[in-house]
Amino acid sequence: HAACQQENGHPRHLLVLVNPYGGTKRAPKIYTRHVKPMLDRAGIRHTMRHTEHACHAIEIGATLDLALYTGIVVVSGDGLLNEMINGLLHRDDWEAAAQIPIGIIPAGSGNGLAWCLGHFQVEKAVFHLIKGHTTPLDIFRAWQGPKVHYGFLCLHHGLIADVDIESEQYRWAGAARFTLSGVRRLLGLRRYPTRVWYQPAAAYDENRLPATARTLPEDDVDAANAAANPKIRSRCPVSQLERYPASARLPDDPASHGWKLFDGESSIALALNAPWTALLRHGSTLCNTSSRRFTPPNHTALIMWRGGSWCICFRLHKRLIGPFLEPEKAAHIGKPWTRYVLVKNAIFEFADDRGVLNMDGEVLPHVTTAMDMMPSVMRIYSM
Ligand code: ADP
Ligand code: MG
Repeated sequence: HAACQQENGHPRHLLVLVNPYGGTKRAPKIYTRHVKPMLDRAGIRHTMRHTEHACHAIEIGATLDLALYTGIVVVSGDGLLNEMINGLLHRDDWEAAAQIPIGIIPAGSGNGLAWCLGHFQVEKAVFHLIKGHTTPLDIFRAWQGPKVHYGFLCLHHGLIADVDIESEQYRWAGAARFTLSGVRRLLGLRRYPTRVWYQPAAAYDENRLPATARTLPEDDVDAANAAANPKIRSRCPVSQLERYPASARLPDDPASHGWKLFDGESSIALALNAPWTALLRHGSTLCNTSSRRFTPPNHTALIMWRGGSWCICFRLHKRLIGPFLEPEKAAHIGKPWTRYVLVKNAIFEFADDRGVLNMDGEVLPHVTTAMDMMPSVMRIYSM
């Protein structure tokens, strides 16, 4: 009991952010019925704050006094935690901010990260929070010109991204909002011309990139976002960084430096940093993990899901919907209609502005995006 009340020899003090808008708006109730009583009984001090508007968690993370808290927990879905880590990692003192353990109590519609951590029930998540054990968490960076967005779960375009954002209108339905939108979107399956450059993990060596590596074409991120349909516009501004890493550049002769290219039509282009998104598991065989392990440190799974001609004839074919109905079978891995590869970086290029670019359930500006990894840079409360 006493051990749970300390973190690195200091009495614990948690910042608990509650999103009154997430999921079916039950987060405040979840906080008063479960989180608060359990923390109080365990003798763990905490300060609760409601988020007041979208992107508020970014502001809180960017400005909070790090000395006040030993941990930061969100009672919400993945989106609010994504905002919080963006606030923390955009700080000038981001290295210190990244040391603070973060946690998630599932109260959103998606809860992909909580699912990955085995936190299926609120009580279980609070129990592990009280125990205070943490696991290292890889963070990925999505570079758009000199701007960077941080994420922990996934960066994707296509079917799942569309369903995630289009289903916002069915928020009242909780997690069923994905099913409602998913069926609709499967019936009208879209295929997007997509180019994804990637270096398979084994071939990856940042130092082997030639000095002439060309910076990606820099779309005007703000202009592209402002021109987008307001429903699928990124809401949260992020600050600009000076550094632009070699891993997010493309050499003049990519093929001879181990870069591969997926160039074709895809229904889903998904970079997945964890065993599950809310909807889909990336499988255990190729990524060499047992069921709830994250990808090996510093790797992300890249899944390209082709929209072949069979899609037109068999839109409801079990090949397409099977992975959603029985995701634990990971039936999509190693099949001819998917490409699955472990990578450390990837560059997404889009032929037009159709579709949504989605990170951890939040919309990003729809422009050329390079993704790379920051291995084990944060810690998350877990089993
Ligand atoms: P869900 O899984 O239901 O999508 P999220 O944690 O992703 O839950 O949160 C959904 C959205 O709620 C986030 O995009 C966040 O910006 C927004 N948000 C947070 N606080 C508020 C608020 N007080 N009013 C409106 N939106 C908010
Ligand atoms: Mg969300």
